[in-house]
Amino acid sequence: MYIGRFAPSPTGPLHFGSLVAAVASYCDAKAHEGKWLVRMEDIDKPREMPGAADDILRTLEAFGFAWDGEESKSKILYQSQRSQLYEKALAELQSKNVIYPCTCTRKEIADSSHLMGIEGAIYPKTCYQKIANLSTSDFNASVSLMDTASQRINVDDAGLITFKDVIQGDISQNLARDIGDFILKRKDGFIAYQLAVVVDDAAQGVTHIVRGADLLDSTPRQIYLQQLLSLETPHYAHVPVATNAQGEKLSKQTLARALDITRPTIELFEALSFLGQHPPEAIKNATLDEVWRWAIANWQLANVPKSRSLVRNHT
Ligand code: GLU
Ligand code: ZN
Repeated sequence: MYIGRFAPSPTGPLHFGSLVAAVASYCDAKAHEGKWLVRMEDIDKPREMPGAADDILRTLEAFGFAWDGEESKSKILYQSQRSQLYEKALAELQSKNVIYPCTCTRKEIADSSHLMGIEGAIYPKTCYQKIANLSTSDFNASVSLMDTASQRINVDDAGLITFKDVIQGDISQNLARDIGDFILKRKDGFIAYQLAVVVDDAAQGVTHIVRGADLLDSTPRQIYLQQLLSLETPHYAHVPVATNAQGEKLSKQTLARALDITRPTIELFEALSFLGQHPPEAIKNATLDEVWRWAIANWQLANVPKSRSLVRNHT
């Protein structure tokens, strides 16, 4: 059974870039006669925009997306309601001795880090070394600090993580060299995206992940967590991220215009074109039903451009 998903973060309204990820994951799931789930990744409360979650769902509805899930509920899984599960996974990792508390501030890290990874400075393991040098009683004392510290995972033993992305090809990453020990729980108590996404994809039985290539570099971290938690690794396909002519990702920051829910067939035409599917012009004036029937029947993952980003030609 194919189970796919779309997992928006309610940090703002859906824009063209997120529509592309939604369309790609939806068409791929439906073309495989699979299920398509919607999961609201509302775990990062400080970054959330009030009302955005409902706004996203209304937009998906207006575009004719039909999601699966437990009939009894709204069929939507909200990450904000699942902290217990994430804490359980964190505890399991703690029992494997790969987690340690870190009390460093951003500035301390910036001042002490000399190695650059692919997402910025590599954490120099300051707190890990501190703990390694402690006696048992001092260690226990420092564990009591853990509530106010962030929790990092030690990736020294991760080795080279490799996977085959259906669109982007062979990807490999050495976590220690390219990323460094990353945070699983933040100082403010929130579980990090990397852990929550792994727990939920597994809990929901997701078999195929189709999402934006801005998450390609996160995937090895997620695969490493799956390995440590004895979870299966799903298939991955990362579609190009839409950018403006300056190569900037379309987002609130780059003033991407909001989707026009009054002309969904035109927005869908553009999303399908962006994804290399060559929709006929006529679907702009078709019904939503007809657009989806065409899109699913003609879906070719192999035609999605094999690049991490792509300039969006239209407005
Ligand atoms: N919530 C993430 C985002 O909106 C996507 C997570 C995922 O697809 O894995 O960027
Ligand atoms: Zn630290």
